[in-house]
Amino acid sequence: MLQRKFDEVVKKEFPNAKDAKDTSIHYLGKMQIEHKLDISKVLMATSVCSDDINVPSTTFFNVLFGPFVMGGLGGIPFVGQTGMTAFAHHIPDNGSAFIFYGPHIGITLEGELGKMYRPRMEETGNSCGALMLALSRLQDNTYAPIMNDDDYQQMKLEESLLPYRDDIMASENQSKAITEATYKIIDQKVHEYLKTCKDEFHVDKVTLLGGIIINTDYGLDDYFDARNFEVIDLKSL
Ligand SMILES: [Zn+2]
Repeated sequence: MLQRKFDEVVKKEFPNAKDAKDTSIHYLGKMQIEHKLDISKVLMATSVCSDDINVPSTTFFNVLFGPFVMGGLGGIPFVGQTGMTAFAHHIPDNGSAFIFYGPHIGITLEGELGKMYRPRMEETGNSCGALMLALSRLQDNTYAPIMNDDDYQQMKLEESLLPYRDDIMASENQSKAITEATYKIIDQKVHEYLKTCKDEFHVDKVTLLGGIIINTDYGLDDYFDARNFEVIDLKSL
């Protein structure tokens, strides 16, 4: 019942979003049928936010090996080129790679974005916490992140968002806008690291699935709004 209600609420904001089960069936099917990939030899990497609430979403694809965890706060692939290289070296012989990436945003039954009910908590909390914190800081136009060792990921995330600040502030729904901007940052970084590390791979094919994870209530399926599905031939990069 509740799941069905969420289905309506989520699709009002993200009309193309699919639930966890549909997402995995749809994209694993595409990999096998359209691209003839042997899914028994696929190593997965994820670049999603560290938040505990995202763990179930990365099990959409639990038939695959992994995951190699690339993401830190906000979902930015903080492991960088060294991480991409290590991942490349771990792929099964004659297999392929799969990278699942993107930011996340909570939604309540009332349709409020950026919020969710977490396990055993009465009040709604922020989701993504890192992005909602960044948003509250960027709303003050005198604010500038200061890089420091002890809050590296959050400061770096905020710094990466600065070029999108005006667009986010001008947007009707700032929580959604900062999430969309973060998707672009992650997508760009994943492509960049793939390109610079392509010689480290001993296989040719890398499947990318990027989009926005939408967190509903605890115990219910998350949704995924795919923005990019592509099977890249590394030889062509
Ligand atoms: Zn988060």
